[in-house]
Parts: sequence; C-alpha cells; structure tokens
Amino acid sequence: MSLIANHPPTAELQALDAAHHMHPFTANAALAEKGARVIVRAEGVRLTDSDGVELLDGMSGLWCVNIGYGRAELADAAARQMRELPYYNAFFQTSHVPAISLAAKLAELAPGDLNHVFFASGGSEANDTNIRMVRHYWARKGQPEKRVIIARRNAYHGSSMGSASLGGMAAMHAQGGLPIPDIEHIAQPNWFAEGGDMTPEEFGIACARELEARIAELGAHRVAAFIAEPVQGAGGVIVPPESYWPEIKRICAAHDILLIADEVITGFGRTGHWFGSQSYGIQPHIMTIAKGLSSGYAPIGGSIVCDEVAEVIGGDEFNHGYTYSGHPVAAAVALENLRILQEEGVVERVRTHTAPYLAQVWAGLTDHPLVGEAVQRGLMASIALTPDKARRAAFAAEPGTVGLICRERCFANNLVMRHVGDRMVIAPPLVISTSDLDVLIARARVALDETLEIATREGLMRAAA
Ligand SMILES: *Cc1c(COP(=O)(O)O)cnc(C)c1O
Repeated sequence: MSLIANHPPTAELQALDAAHHMHPFTANAALAEKGARVIVRAEGVRLTDSDGVELLDGMSGLWCVNIGYGRAELADAAARQMRELPYYNAFFQTSHVPAISLAAKLAELAPGDLNHVFFASGGSEANDTNIRMVRHYWARKGQPEKRVIIARRNAYHGSSMGSASLGGMAAMHAQGGLPIPDIEHIAQPNWFAEGGDMTPEEFGIACARELEARIAELGAHRVAAFIAEPVQGAGGVIVPPESYWPEIKRICAAHDILLIADEVITGFGRTGHWFGSQSYGIQPHIMTIAKGLSSGYAPIGGSIVCDEVAEVIGGDEFNHGYTYSGHPVAAAVALENLRILQEEGVVERVRTHTAPYLAQVWAGLTDHPLVGEAVQRGLMASIALTPDKARRAAFAAEPGTVGLICRERCFANNLVMRHVGDRMVIAPPLVISTSDLDVLIARARVALDETLEIATREGLMRAAA
C-alpha cells in the first residue's frame, strides 16, 4: 500500500463507481457488490491499482496499448497539438495538418493500393462507415441490390447498431433488436470447438466454402462484401487453419465480392507484420483500423480504402462523417505512435524475436491437464480449457464458468489475462520482453493449477454430452 496517493482510498472510489458509473459489457449490480479494481497508473507493461498492487497487463488494455504505457512522446504530441489547433474538421472543404499527415502515413504503410483513409473515432464507427461505403459503392456502379454483407458467427466488429450487426455475437444480438437487415453470418474457422473429425486444413476449406454456398444461395448480384478479422480477437483468439484465407481470397475474387479485413486488433504489429492481412497474404479492398493506431492513447479509428472504391465513392457526395473524424489531437498522437513503432523497429522485433519466443513457451502450456490446445500468431495467443483433451470436449457446466475462475486466479496472481467462454486469451504490449513473457507464463501456470484445483473440488471437470 502506497502511503502517498493522489486519489481517494479504494473503498471510496469503488462506492462512487458503483453509484454513478455504468460499465460496458458488465452486470453492474454484481460488480457494485464486489467493487471494481481501480487502475491508477501504468508504465511499460505494468499497471498499478489504487492499493499500490502491480499487475502484468497481458491484454494491452483492450488489445490496444501496442507501444506500452508511459510514453511521454505521445503526451507531448497531444499537448503540442492542443495548444496549436485543438479542433478542426474536414467537412466543408477544409483540412488540417495532422489528418493530412496521418492519412499519407497510413497509405505508405498499408499494402498495395490501399491509399485512402476515412477517419472515425474507433473501430465501431469505422465499421459503420464500411457498411455504408460498400453499399454506396455498388449503388454508384448501378447495382443497388448488391447490399448484403456476409460476416461470421462469433466475430467482433464493434458495439454500435451496424458494427454489432456485422459481429456474430449471439449475446449482443439478443439485446436491442439486432442484427439490422441484409447482414448474413457463416461459420467461424474454430477447429478446436467445431472441427469435429476433420483435420484443421479440411475444416479451414469447409468453413471458407460456406461463404461460397451462401453467395450461391443469395445470388452474387446481392452480395456486396465479406468482412472478417484476419485472426479473430474478442471471439477468443481463433487462429484460422492455413487453408482458410487462400480459399476465402479465391471465392471473393470469383464472385466479385469486396473483402473487408477488420484489422482493429491485428493491425499495427500485433501479428508481427504491420497488418494481419500481410501475415496471410490477403489484399483487402478496405481495412478497418483503430486500437493500435494510437496505442490507445487517444480514440481514433478509420477505414483504409483501395483506389477503385475511393474513386467510385468520390464521384459524388458521400453523406456521411463524424464530428471527430480525423480529430487533430488524436491524429497527432497516432502519428507519434507510428513514428515510434517504425523507428524503434517494434514490429520487426515482434516478428523475429518475441513472437517466436512466445510461440515456444505458449505451446508448453499444453502439458497442463486443463489445456486442450494452445494457439498463437504474433503476440496474440489463446488456450482452450477442457475437461477432456482427447475429445476436445466442452465443459458440462455453462460456458465460461471455468474460464471465469481462471481469469480470477490470474487476477489474484497479478496477471491480466481475459477469458472468452472457456478460452483464455492474451495480447500483451508489443514491447514486452522475453523475461516478462516468462513472468506471464509462470503466473498463468499458477492460475491454471489453482483453477484445476477449484474446478475439481466443485465437480466442474465433467464433459458436456
Ligand atoms: C475492438 C474492435 C472493434 C471495435 O472498436 P471500438 O474502438 O471499440 O469501437 C472492431 N473490430 C474489432 C476486430 C475489434 O477488436
């Protein structure tokens, strides 16, 4: 417990939080009873809570603090920009230096002819933009009926009406009247849970062929685009079989369907390349970006758009935009973040050094009795908890019961690791050292041991029928 604090005591903060603060994706009444953990500062890969306890952040906040915490250069960039020009917009034939510079920088970094950027404040907004943009694109090409967007079950594309409709989260669709019309969902390439007796490669092809079957069902003349995360993040870090993306690529090209890669998590070094699309040899028509774009230091996102789509959209007025599209302070922070990622060789270091190391130590977790598979791509990874490895079985208990126990044991051991159902996921800051990866693995092992003990005691180690 630190003796000098710049904040009220934890109990007081928790009481105010419970009384007034509605948390996202949270059962607020239950949290109020327990009290939220209050994070007061952070440095590098470590968070400090209001009791002075240090945690290793295995999640980069929400998959976003790629560059790590505490980079004064980003704070200075924000302060400088706020003094010079805190706000202006690009709506009515004006522009400003940070948005211009950031758009040009992104065009340089993004592969191929992805040369045009439409800014938003985050990934949800950017995906809403994408829905409107691809539909408007086909309408301007004389095919207004080509408006269906195909996405995948258990995908995450954001939380606004449009982006959550693209997403395939059943629990989200169950509230608020989602999805909006003309969004279709096909299978996710989650071999561990859904692959049955197929090999991963067979299953990857089978999942991709669902796209072709759905296009045939709907008629290609009605399908505007397919959207997918190169590696699913919030769905549980689902790494697709190697056969999956080449087949998706073939199908989109064969049927004249736009491909939208949602790079909100996989962008900016997460997979060891600047974009996940490069890891899989994909050349999408549009990429959704956010999160690592500013390393979470300021809210900014956007769509990077290929020449052809930008040209067609640009032919008349696109009746769409956000007050904070390309916000100068957020753009200045993002630029500084990209400068550091590039000049310090952070992405290369992930590719050649930390990701190969993580691959090795993460795979080692499969010797634990609870762990059915361990998968990794770059610095994102997951393990599937199971009561029966040989059968890749799910637990008989409600999905997420054992995952939540494990997450709480991680927390108790000063490691932030998230659970998605009964998968445990990590996506640490890209600047993490191999010795901190060792700390992460050691804490995860203790948490897994404690989880196994609790699950056994509580009779949770039974497989679903
Ligand atoms: C987080 C996320 C989003 C939504 O981004 P927000 O900034 O929260 O609106 C969209 N797509 C993916 C893949 C994400 O992980």
